[in-house]
Amino acid sequence: MAFWPSVVVATPAHSGVGAALTYRSELSLAPGTLVRVPLGAREVLGVVWDCPLQPPAGLSEAQTRDVGGVLEGLPALNASWRQLVRFAAQYYQRSLGEVALAALPPQLRELSSAQLARRLKKRALAAQAIGGGVPPVADGEAPDGPDLSDEQSESLRALAQAQAPVLLFGATGSGKTEVYLRATLQALRSHADAQVLVMVPEINLTPQLEARFRERFEPLFGAGALVCLHSGMTPAQRLAGWLAAHTGSARIVLGTRMAVLASLPGLRLIVVDEEHDPSYKSQEGARYSARDLAVYRAKVESEALAAGGTGARCQVVLGSATPSLESWHAADQGRYLRLAMPARIGGGALPRLRLVDMNHQPKGAVLSPPLVAAMAERIARGEQCLVLLNRRGYAPVLACHDCGWKSGCPHCSAYRVFHKLDRTLRCHHCGFTERVPRACPDCGNLDIAPVGRGTEQVEEQLAGLLADVKRPDGGPARVARMDADSTRLKGSLELQLATMHSGEVDVLVGTQMIAKGHDFRRITLVAAINADAGLFASDHRAPERLFALLMQAGGRAGRDAAFITEQGSASELWVQTWTPQHPLFAALRAHDFPAFAAQQLAERESAGMPPFGHQALLRADARTQQAAQAWLNAAAQAAEGLPHRADVTLYPAVPLTIQRVANVERAQLLVEAASRGALQRFLSAWQPLLLECRNLPEARGLVRFAVDVDPLVV
Ligand code: ADP
Ligand code: ZN
Ligand code: ZN
Repeated sequence: MAFWPSVVVATPAHSGVGAALTYRSELSLAPGTLVRVPLGAREVLGVVWDCPLQPPAGLSEAQTRDVGGVLEGLPALNASWRQLVRFAAQYYQRSLGEVALAALPPQLRELSSAQLARRLKKRALAAQAIGGGVPPVADGEAPDGPDLSDEQSESLRALAQAQAPVLLFGATGSGKTEVYLRATLQALRSHADAQVLVMVPEINLTPQLEARFRERFEPLFGAGALVCLHSGMTPAQRLAGWLAAHTGSARIVLGTRMAVLASLPGLRLIVVDEEHDPSYKSQEGARYSARDLAVYRAKVESEALAAGGTGARCQVVLGSATPSLESWHAADQGRYLRLAMPARIGGGALPRLRLVDMNHQPKGAVLSPPLVAAMAERIARGEQCLVLLNRRGYAPVLACHDCGWKSGCPHCSAYRVFHKLDRTLRCHHCGFTERVPRACPDCGNLDIAPVGRGTEQVEEQLAGLLADVKRPDGGPARVARMDADSTRLKGSLELQLATMHSGEVDVLVGTQMIAKGHDFRRITLVAAINADAGLFASDHRAPERLFALLMQAGGRAGRDAAFITEQGSASELWVQTWTPQHPLFAALRAHDFPAFAAQQLAERESAGMPPFGHQALLRADARTQQAAQAWLNAAAQAAEGLPHRADVTLYPAVPLTIQRVANVERAQLLVEAASRGALQRFLSAWQPLLLECRNLPEARGLVRFAVDVDPLVV
């Protein structure tokens, strides 16, 4: 007897190979089984999608090849996981094989069955060595952790009973992380196989969070109870983490957006921390939103649990002090359950807003005198300051004042940034780096100068401005910098955070990475010195992002209420701006996110923007801008006859804001629809035509194209 399994393999998104390939097998293979199958001259990893007894109609049985082998010892990927992958592929317009295989650890593709068997055996032995892995947990045993605030208890109670996704709207320092920890404990105790997925925007930036989870759960569930999954791990680490999650030995997975696609057969809770963070949206391959997939996944897992008759659910919690307008709107409509925690733990106040109108400051001042004076006072009292600037390097441009030469990148339509420390010009888009020229390359003028400012320069200036300021211990004020450049070396981020926590450093200057999630105890002043840069960006999400960044940055100040009281000082958020009358600042001053969200949503609604309208982008990369746009417009032309064409608006092709990167020209075409369904129907019908459009004369010069559904930047 023979079976005819259909198997999905990693096909390039637009290779035209169908959803699954049919093979022959002597054995019946359960859907979700991992197999090796021949593809051309190679043998590749695949996932069995279905295994019928009859070959599909029209299949040439003689030409159908045999399944090469089964990855022994690995349980099949379950139905919920397969449903998640199917949905993601369809919704984001990619092939099933691409999404399915991208969700598996890369090393799984390379290991032979024998190598894999050895790994699994080693894992089993290691688990035995630590006494079967999981220590027994006494049921009533109190977990280590503080007594919950009323708001925290109430949130936990509501969460346990929620029948919808939960939006945990908690001020910075309101104790959201503690809620995640307790919810995790509840979920893990609900069932011996229960698993929890905790997602964060960037793991590396917040080693503290991982430490808190380990500290809390390793004593209860064993050393292997928590694994991480993120792209910074080595292939071997990723495989180990994935195997632990897939086989159920890991009870908690802490990861970045990629973790949403991990195999978690016991999943009972998903936490999406800082759910508004743009890094949850993938910018390559299948451009999925991990937050949106988390919500979908929880629904699928809950349905599976309900079908199993257990009465249990898989809960999903989206947490933020400044939720995305999409989630906020969903809560307004009652699709999500909103739980508010407005109060900070310890009763501390949120920082007071101090706006500095830069129109009234000395010309050319990077740091206004009142801000510098306020910082000096704080340092003298033994408090710390955080200075936020959204540009790393010394200056964004180097220019010649004689002939007007600027340090452009030869490969991109962008300037190379001047880094003074190693005297280089670096392109932050393609990485192209050169030594700073001694003279202007165009006219030979020796006097080329930096224009604008970056973190390096602010660090240098602050050190000068604060040179005479003394700390309470009599020592000089110390300024440090933290950004992608200063943290490139392994371990340097932890080291820099440690100097801040220990109080060695008085002022930390950095990019937005210093605003994220850190629980600094002695910071009482946070300053954003070029806030406007974000306000005048062209896209409609700029105010939303700036508001979130400023709230989050401000949230680093005054976290320790006892310290603030003892110091007798109030925490402050300083913002230097050229447009102090902007409505965003009024909402920020009142710490009134709901008012800000309502105003933004009203604007979005009148403009038909998400979440009221739905968007997708067709993006094209080509050798010339003309070619990129010509292909996009041809693709729009090809859509004319489609049945769902009338339900969408197609806009003309336009160049991207940074239109050339690494010698590739980039353009995009916006698709808008009134409903998600209409957009999906149109895109599904359009997809096969897009593949055909690669053969048009207009495709000459086309390098690649991609569809981005629910794009963040339009
Ligand atoms: P958020 O994630 O909302 O910014 P955290 O969970 O990090 O807030 O909590 C802020 C600080 O308060 C942390 O240092 C945390 O350990 C502490 N904390 C949280 N909940 C409590 C509580 N119930 N009692 C005492 N301290 C708490
Ligand atoms: Zn010149
Ligand atoms: Zn470049």
